[in-house]
Amino acid sequence: MSEAVALVYSPEVVAYDHGPQHPLRPVRVRLTRELIAAYGVLDREHVREIPTRVAPDEEIRLVHTEAYVDVVRRAGSGEDGDWGRYGFGPGDNPIFPQMHEASARVVGASVDAARAVLEGEAEHAFNPAGGLHHAMPERASGFCVYDDPAVAIAWLLEQGVERVAYVDVDVHHGDGPQAVFYDDPRVLTISIHETGRYLFPGTGFVSERGEGKAEGTKVNVPLPPYTADDGWLRAFSEVVPPAVRAFGPDVLVTQLGCDTHHTDPLAHLGLSTRAYREAARTLHDLAHELTDGRWVATGGGGYQWARVVPRAWTIYFTEMAEIGVPDEVPEDWRELASAEAGGPVPGRLSEDPPPPAEHAMEVESVIEEVKRALALP
Ligand SMILES: [Zn+2]
Ligand SMILES: [Zn+2]
Repeated sequence: MSEAVALVYSPEVVAYDHGPQHPLRPVRVRLTRELIAAYGVLDREHVREIPTRVAPDEEIRLVHTEAYVDVVRRAGSGEDGDWGRYGFGPGDNPIFPQMHEASARVVGASVDAARAVLEGEAEHAFNPAGGLHHAMPERASGFCVYDDPAVAIAWLLEQGVERVAYVDVDVHHGDGPQAVFYDDPRVLTISIHETGRYLFPGTGFVSERGEGKAEGTKVNVPLPPYTADDGWLRAFSEVVPPAVRAFGPDVLVTQLGCDTHHTDPLAHLGLSTRAYREAARTLHDLAHELTDGRWVATGGGGYQWARVVPRAWTIYFTEMAEIGVPDEVPEDWRELASAEAGGPVPGRLSEDPPPPAEHAMEVESVIEEVKRALALP
């Protein structure tokens, strides 16, 4: 029998909603929870569901400035102001009603995932609404208002945790946590993503390594467009486990964006769900090897919101819970998701491999460059 795992969720998380024209669709979080539930995972004795909570300002201010929290609250309650200065406006970060409360709930869910793991209520905890890794201390960016993974890490440090490893597998560079802890040697950040040469936010190069005493604790693996399962998994397995092992964390925090999928409309990597299954297993093994199981996981990007995101995150969560589920997705869920999507959704968790990519050499050279920078064998 595996140890307890927690899913941090409640229906209110869908209030984090930039509007019907925006690519970040909050229903993806509900569809994820419903797929996990449809598989019977939440009925198992060692799996618990923790309701979400709106984080108080003191928690948010572990990362964000008081002035910014004030702006988010005022803009979201309809007040006019020069909110563009803080990254808000039409396009990526439109202002939406109750923006502070909805964003603070995402933060509360990630802090509670961290709390559950730290206090031993669960070995592993997952907040699928979280992973808003582009928000900066005083600026919204890339659909992200508050940086919940950075707040969860800061909260863990405040509780006395000495070393936290953050692994970010989203297709976009995890620039927020990297920036927040750039000079903090207690936090290792590793981001594996499509290179910033072609993709938002335009950062995440191998040369970004942290500064001062933190030099070498910030790791970036910028992959070329069209990198597929094999290349991605090679880069992941050659960099992530050795770097995390060398750092020796007390807690593992991961951002599990699945906008790396070959059908994702916002980026250009070529992954299938096979990569998510293998990455999940590696991260799970690392947690048991290095952090006594302490693993805090968040969601992240994913814009195939009905066809990919729920299956990807169900793969991760069932790995955390060590529950083998049938490859075929439950019929009830398929009906629900198809109705939401207005079209068919895949009937299996696994997928046929997408057409092979032609960039293997480039992946090898990136891996070599990263390993040289890290002085890894
Ligand atoms: Zn992303
Ligand atoms: Zn485990």
